[in-house]
Amino acid sequence: MSNTINYTVDADGIALLTFDLPGKSMNVLTPELMQELDALVKQAAADDAVKGLVLTSGKAAFIAGADIKDMVTAYDRGVTPREGYEFSYALNRTLRNMETCGKPVAAAINGLALGGGLEVCLACHYRVLADHPKAVLGFPEVNIGLLPGAGGTQRTPRLIGFRNAATMVLQCRNQKPQQALEMGLVQELAPADQVVDRARRWVLEEGDPIAPWDKKGFKIPHGGLMSPGTAQTFMVGNALLAKNTRHNYPAPIAAQSAMFEGCATSFDDGLKIESQYFGTLLAGPVARNMMRSLFVNKGKADKLARRPEGVEKSQVRKLGILGAGMMGAGIAYVSAQAGIEVVLLDTSQEAAEKGKAYSEGLLKKAMERGKTTEEKAAALLGLIKPTTSYHDLAGCDLVIEAVFESVKIKADVTAKTEAVVPESCIFASNTSTLPITGLAEASERPEQFIGLHFFSPVDKMPLVEVILGKKTNDEAIARSLDYIQQIRKTPIVVNDSRGFYTSRVFSTFTAEGISMLAEGVNPALIENVSKMTGMPVGALAVTDEVTLELAHKIGKETAAALGRDYPADLSQEVIQKMVEDLDRKGKRFGKGFYDYPKDAKKHLWAGLAEHFPVADTQPEVSELKKRFLTIQALETARCVEEGVLMHAEDADIGSIFGWGFPPYTGGTLSYIDTIGIREFVAECDRMAAAYGERFKASAWLRERAESGQDFYA
Ligand code: NAD
Repeated sequence: MSNTINYTVDADGIALLTFDLPGKSMNVLTPELMQELDALVKQAAADDAVKGLVLTSGKAAFIAGADIKDMVTAYDRGVTPREGYEFSYALNRTLRNMETCGKPVAAAINGLALGGGLEVCLACHYRVLADHPKAVLGFPEVNIGLLPGAGGTQRTPRLIGFRNAATMVLQCRNQKPQQALEMGLVQELAPADQVVDRARRWVLEEGDPIAPWDKKGFKIPHGGLMSPGTAQTFMVGNALLAKNTRHNYPAPIAAQSAMFEGCATSFDDGLKIESQYFGTLLAGPVARNMMRSLFVNKGKADKLARRPEGVEKSQVRKLGILGAGMMGAGIAYVSAQAGIEVVLLDTSQEAAEKGKAYSEGLLKKAMERGKTTEEKAAALLGLIKPTTSYHDLAGCDLVIEAVFESVKIKADVTAKTEAVVPESCIFASNTSTLPITGLAEASERPEQFIGLHFFSPVDKMPLVEVILGKKTNDEAIARSLDYIQQIRKTPIVVNDSRGFYTSRVFSTFTAEGISMLAEGVNPALIENVSKMTGMPVGALAVTDEVTLELAHKIGKETAAALGRDYPADLSQEVIQKMVEDLDRKGKRFGKGFYDYPKDAKKHLWAGLAEHFPVADTQPEVSELKKRFLTIQALETARCVEEGVLMHAEDADIGSIFGWGFPPYTGGTLSYIDTIGIREFVAECDRMAAAYGERFKASAWLRERAESGQDFYA
């Protein structure tokens, strides 16, 4: 036994069980911890001197959730649904034993309790929660492809009713202390240092050892399964789930079924139903994909897994931003938010001030929502200095360039900056397409030149793509990564290429949608299938957003740089026609694939049918979905082949957090691994024959497929 729970019995006969995982800053739930809990509960139950139990934690938080280390490998280890059931049911049995041990058990929840941690609390007969903003309660499981498998789907609705339970379990919404109290999730709030005393008091003075659902006449609060309100909750819930998940995510559907079916039967049978659904999810690929990319690998990236060793940890104190447009303004905001002094430079004072005004707007909204105070907002704004003078850049540790997408202008601002900043300053370009090695030619210090590609809107998008030029050195990489961590974004690191990784692969998604249009696929079908695939926005709508004009410009520039013809394919033919002949350049211009009436919602342009006639027979939805996913995954594989991508983890994280590749796939390379690389290549062959050479797998990929070499070893 690992001794992660301290056990003491005081003079009043209270057994105090303190979770305190040695050598860790947080408690996490492991099968060993649960075995230890089981044994200690049995010991306390058998000890006549013990009147009741209080569970608490020796850390700042109660329990942060289950350790997913073993769960994330379950699918790869070939864990069956039955074994998944056993895993969950063992947890359920332990907590049910505690709940029915015959002695009152209270949870003294001194800090946050999530997932399995909250399930431990719910299996206690009484809960006192620390009245502290960080002491939130919640179930994050559905977000990583699982469901609460230690009684959460059974105790939560029985405790707080179906509607509240749905909010917590299906939408993964955390509850703050006051909300938790009002909902009935906990019975009492207290200052963090008093939760144990209050829990002891309850055990000594009230100490009811029977859970509500084990009492005769128990009724689910706010209406049982057959009540009109509950029927409506499930009806609306079903529709919402279908809309939000497009049936790509098994977890929320399984969790809802577990709640419904489990509450239609006895509590003990309900636990078995929950464990069955849990087992099926654990044994499936979606949970593996989501746990691996969204939790494990994102966590590693946030801890700077790609940071070169041997470079001292650094902090940016003064940041220069060149260009106060959409991107520059956003980067200024997130940097000032991290307490960094920002010099925001543009060609006119007015443009620079406008960039700063973007932060003012965001802060005003934040104040209205009570997310910040006037003092904090003023302090943040005080950090941003709008200017036109390069002299203000003196003393910058890092300068990020976000001027117009032009090699000439970028070269000009690079030289002007290097004339005034310290020699140690790192220079980064936020270009979305121009190769970094080429831009670095304008620099006197190309080894300190790097690409930091942010995504729009910067304050919302979590990813920064770090692009290494041929000469970029380790120090520039390390210090750039330190900065990304400082502003709380997630980095991926890639090698230089036209469009790098994210812009390059994302453009295959939009191009595929546009090619479909040229083939006669109904535009409404293209848009709906994009979303059914799990992409956040339709392929045509998102092209309108980034503008057809930009796609046109990039297409022409790329063709020129690579010495090939423009337009080179069907999608470019459509773009050329839309921009050059029809003057429909995208949303910013008021018209593109969509019309944007001032007083109504946007809608697909009726004229599309005239220029791109709709074919009599339309393809299957499943075929279009596969096309969208396959083309992006294949382009990602090409990035691996060319050395643009060095790690499968970066590919997956970048695809999900950069442009919204559907999380249930685990990302572009997990998508291939999940299908199986052989099957993937066979699918590419079929599509190359049906839709064109762009689906052709390279000899390199074919070889990998033949030897069965997955992207994740
Ligand atoms: P923008 O047109 O909104 O802003 C560019 C700003 O640069 C303008 O305010 C302009 O006045 C200023 N500027 C132009 N020349 C300058 C000079 N010589 N000195 C100082 N300031 C100058 O453009 P944006 O969308 O913010 O894009 C900026 C850069 O970021 C581009 O390289 C673009 O490719 C890249 N990028 C854009 C996006 C996006 O979604 N818009 C995403 C990632 C990267």
